[in-house]
Amino acid sequence: MSRRKIVAGNWKLNGSKDFLQNIVETLVSVNDVDVVIAPPFPYLEKASALVADLNGLSVSAQNVSSYSDGAFTGEVSVAMLKDIGADSVIVGHSERRELFGETDAIVAEKISQVLKFGLTPILCVGETLEQREQGSTIEVCSTQIKSVLDVVGAENFDNVVIAYEPVWAIGTGKSASSAEAQEVHASIRKLLSESLEGLGKKVSILYGGSVKAANAKELFEQEDIDGALVGGASLKVEEFNEIIKAAG
Ligand code: PEP
Repeated sequence: MSRRKIVAGNWKLNGSKDFLQNIVETLVSVNDVDVVIAPPFPYLEKASALVADLNGLSVSAQNVSSYSDGAFTGEVSVAMLKDIGADSVIVGHSERRELFGETDAIVAEKISQVLKFGLTPILCVGETLEQREQGSTIEVCSTQIKSVLDVVGAENFDNVVIAYEPVWAIGTGKSASSAEAQEVHASIRKLLSESLEGLGKKVSILYGGSVKAANAKELFEQEDIDGALVGGASLKVEEFNEIIKAAG
């Protein structure tokens, strides 16, 4: 069974209605590559409407509440995202873990909510520079993934997409080498298959961290890299198009 190839653009706190309109009109469509755009919450409904009739293009939120409803001012539930036509949700991005105190337990609860409503969670994992230098990269990623597996169960994990994003590579211009990324991706696949036979072969694992047109092809040539989660370069339409083409 071949895994989905995915190129997802995380706009972070950037974008506008005009930018959205322009990018949807300009993005290339490449056979067998699922392209995902993740604008901020206010643009999700319009984004979903714009991509509704387009093949291979879908919309992700950048975050979601771990609660389903109730007195949680400022939160947005998975049901609401589903209601406005979003398909996936980025969960556990390192900026949310670091700046907004998201623990492994919160991330696991969010993934559980996303799966419950039939959306696709894009689970971000990755080590800090200090952890890499200590040689604990694989242990850190494994712990982050296991905490989700423990809550949702390996049998419900087929629909999770994992994004391996070394924290030191995000927004720094310094990508992991293709060999460094491949090593971690292979170890994640091994962990998944140890949890449930065959699971490692099914789950798409994206690389994220300073992916650009210049390094995308080499990353995508690695056996266990199924695409990319792209931050800064997803805001430069021509460059994002080059990354999409490199995945094809
Ligand atoms: C990200 O925000 O997920 C990301 C990978 O950012 P960048 O591509 O800018 O490093």
